[in-house]
Amino acid sequence: MEGLAAVRARLAAAEAAAGRPAGSVALVAVSKEQPEARVRAALAAGQRRFGENRVQEGEARWAALAPAFPGVELHLIGPLQTNKARAAVARFDVIQTLDRPRLARALADLAAARGALPRLFVQVNTGAEPQKVGVLPGAADAFLAEVRAMGLAVEGLMCIPPAGHDPVPHFRLLRSIAATAGLAGLSMGMSDDFEAAVAEGATVVRVGAAIFGPRAGAGAVRGR
Ligand SMILES: *Cc1c(COP(=O)(O)O)cnc(C)c1O
Repeated sequence: MEGLAAVRARLAAAEAAAGRPAGSVALVAVSKEQPEARVRAALAAGQRRFGENRVQEGEARWAALAPAFPGVELHLIGPLQTNKARAAVARFDVIQTLDRPRLARALADLAAARGALPRLFVQVNTGAEPQKVGVLPGAADAFLAEVRAMGLAVEGLMCIPPAGHDPVPHFRLLRSIAATAGLAGLSMGMSDDFEAAVAEGATVVRVGAAIFGPRAGAGAVRGR
C-alpha cells in the first residue's frame, strides 16, 4: 500500500520536526466511500485504526471485516443522529462527533444500560460554519461541563477547518479550548494539512485520500 507507506513516512517526519515521540500521533485511516479491496490492503499492511462518517456504512462494512482482523479500532467521524446512537455505540470504538446535549443524554442513557461506551471526542465548529455540525467555540466550555455532569468522560476535541482557509488558526483555537478544559486529545488534520496539525499538537489525525486515493463520486467532498 503505497499511499499508506507515504502517509506513515510523512507522519513520522512531522512528529520528528515537532520534537514529539515517534508513534505519539494516532493515524486514523478514513475508509469512507472506499472500495473494500483498498481497505483490505491497508489491513494487510497492518493498519488497524479506521474512520467512517456514516453509521450504516460503517456497520455494513465492518460487521464482517472487524472480526477477521483483531485489534481493529473504528472511529465515527461524521454527524451522529440521536436515533442512531444505539447502533453507533454497538459498532464504534470512538465517537468523535459528540456535539449537543440531546445526543449526550442518549449516550449517557446507553452507558447506564450497557456499562460502557465508546471513547468520546466533542466536535467543535471552529469556523462557525452554518452547514457544519459541532458546538460553537464560545459554547464549548459550557457544553463540556454539561456533558461531564451527565457522567460522560470526554477524551478530547475534534475539528474540521473550513475548506480553502488556512487551517492553523483553527488548530490553535481547538488546542486552546482543550487546554482550558483540561483535555489531552486533539483530533485534527487531514490529507492536505496533517503535518501542520501535528506541529500544533494533534494527537489523532484523520487521513483518507492520501492513503487510499480519491473517493468515488460526488461524496468526495462530504465532511469538508
Ligand atoms: C473525509 C474526512 C476526512 C478525511 O479527508 P481526506 O481529505 O480524504 O484526508 C477526515 N475527517 C473527516 C471528518 C472526514 O469527513
